[in-house]
Amino acid sequence: MKKLLKIITAAAGITLTAYVTPCEAQQVTPYNPNKIYYPEYQQSARAEFSFPKVGKYEVMICDYHSHTMFSDGLVWPTYRVEEAWNDGLDALAITDHIEYLPFKKYLNSDHNTSYEIAKPKADELGFILIKGSEITRKQAVLGHFNALFIKDANPIAVEDPKASILEARKQGAFIIWNHPGWAVDSTYMKDFQKNLLDEKLFDGIEVFNSREYYPRVLSWAVDNNLTIIAASDVHGTLDDKTISENGAHRPVTLVLAKERSSEGVKEALFAGRTLALFHNTIAAKESIASDFVDACIKVKKLFENGKNVTLILTNSGDIRFTFKVGKSTYILPAKSSITISLPATSKRIDANFTNIFIYENRTLAHSLQIQ
Ligand code: ZN
Repeated sequence: MKKLLKIITAAAGITLTAYVTPCEAQQVTPYNPNKIYYPEYQQSARAEFSFPKVGKYEVMICDYHSHTMFSDGLVWPTYRVEEAWNDGLDALAITDHIEYLPFKKYLNSDHNTSYEIAKPKADELGFILIKGSEITRKQAVLGHFNALFIKDANPIAVEDPKASILEARKQGAFIIWNHPGWAVDSTYMKDFQKNLLDEKLFDGIEVFNSREYYPRVLSWAVDNNLTIIAASDVHGTLDDKTISENGAHRPVTLVLAKERSSEGVKEALFAGRTLALFHNTIAAKESIASDFVDACIKVKKLFENGKNVTLILTNSGDIRFTFKVGKSTYILPAKSSITISLPATSKRIDANFTNIFIYENRTLAHSLQIQ
């Protein structure tokens, strides 16, 4: 099996990326009996993180909210791309704040810089990097908004908050209202946000941001047909293993795209075909959640004795499902199968998925068909 080996040629100060086998790796370093080479310290591997197609759609794994040192993040833009690629993502938006720039005195004044630094690295990896900006106004009154697929971040940096949003719109941006419940005690819509909603000046909304889930926001998304988003809003790093050791992954938006491309992602976002995935939990519109479950879980008959039937449920998605059938609770781990026994007369499995939210605190009731 081939592994990706990154060979850093320290002396030349350049980074090369090549597919080599461990055996070939030995040949990279000339034999020297006085120096033993351990490639692991310079090697990065991409996690395999995948879901089966949902109907005709590809499931793309995306994070639409991240920062670099070009706003208040702590990392260089290329690091953000490599981190996302290693994390198994298909697309990332770098959304540096255009107003909040704590390192301003060290930076130039071009708001496009982080994207321009990161884009060649993304291209090298065949990774989708989305150009974005975070329009950052007083959280308690106006809030923060991410504009994605912008052309030029500089004209968005104007004083009037609505003019800023309108400029992003003029550039064809997909606009997300970020973390509506962050830094406020209760999640509610302020006048500015109501006005933007009435004028359809934002398209998506974060139901999950960083470590926070906002159940009420899911109901707003469903009631107003807004695209449902989960995002990391990462400022530092995500690779300290804490998240994976807790059995989870960074919050991501799963996008049901017609094609694996930037255009495919954009079309799906505007069409609202997303699921928010955070900590083995999904928040999505009911029909999308049902289609997703049907794509991931297949049910087959294993054995029948006239009284009971044994069914095998196979999950080909990278998410652990938790569901109830009657009074019994089942856990179906990612990329795994479990068996359950039901009365022989059962034609389907009437399940309630306790880790899939479809409206505020309502979970998905869905019947799995037996094939
Ligand atoms: Zn942010």
